[in-house]
Amino acid sequence: MINKILKNRFPFVSKYFEMLLDNDIDKFPQAIVFEGLDVIGQYMFSMELARILNCNKNKEEDCDCINCNWIREAKHPAVNMVTPINYKDDASKTVISINQAKKITSGLSETSDYHRFFIFADARIKQKSTMETALIKEYKDLNFNFPEEDWVPIPLSTKIFKAEASNSLLKSIEEPPKKTTFIFLSKNREDIISTIVSRSNVFKLPNLKTKISLSDIIKNLLKSYPTYNTREAMEAAGEIEGAIKNDDIDIYDFLNGFQELALSLLRNNLKDMALTKMYENHIRLIQRAKQRISVSMSSKVVLESLFLDIAVNNLAP
Ligand SMILES: [Zn+2]
Repeated sequence: MINKILKNRFPFVSKYFEMLLDNDIDKFPQAIVFEGLDVIGQYMFSMELARILNCNKNKEEDCDCINCNWIREAKHPAVNMVTPINYKDDASKTVISINQAKKITSGLSETSDYHRFFIFADARIKQKSTMETALIKEYKDLNFNFPEEDWVPIPLSTKIFKAEASNSLLKSIEEPPKKTTFIFLSKNREDIISTIVSRSNVFKLPNLKTKISLSDIIKNLLKSYPTYNTREAMEAAGEIEGAIKNDDIDIYDFLNGFQELALSLLRNNLKDMALTKMYENHIRLIQRAKQRISVSMSSKVVLESLFLDIAVNNLAP
């Protein structure tokens, strides 16, 4: 029933839900919090539960009924992504708004033939990080699409799912109509307001032990270098810092690789004065970063200031 890729990744949680789906469908939880670092896996698992509960054929992983296909395309009317950017009526797009929460509550008073899912997360339209690309590859054969091109789910935080919006949903979460499930995707249950957590079944999903390589990181960096904006700069710094902390790469290896990259781009653009100057400047900034690391400055501080300086010192329009 549950796709074998997910069963292999999340054996215990899969077993638990298969038991419920086989025997005790009435006990299917009305609210679920997933926690862990693999938010893409949490998305896939949520979609798989939604698929099985809405399937009108055999529930198998290769089922081709209209509901299964609709969910794979992320277009099923009963399966809703609740994120700041997937709510078209609201211009703010930085938080899950109270209006958004109220609309869910009022929608619940209408009857539905389907098992409704509301999957709460943060999300961005952005270039995928090396880790995100590795995770998406892991789940590729499930054939679950994201709602939009370049859309990536991000774990919830109390900054984007604030107390007021959370609290306005409490009653619906506690006593939803039949066949309604709320799912919250998070790094840690502490990133969700406790009144929601206490009304939910919490499942910790294991992290994926994919080692990411220096060459993958440099390759990914190359996609938008040198035209970073400041937000991309901070994301790139965070990604590299994460890979260093995870012992995937060494910071000197990274800085040396980055410097070689800038040097080869410099050599290929010697006829363009402005580009030549820019790459020379970047090579100097990377050199300065190496010196800072050698006097024991924290890699986080060094990487952030390096990438921010590059974002300021590039020729992006
Ligand atoms: Zn089906």
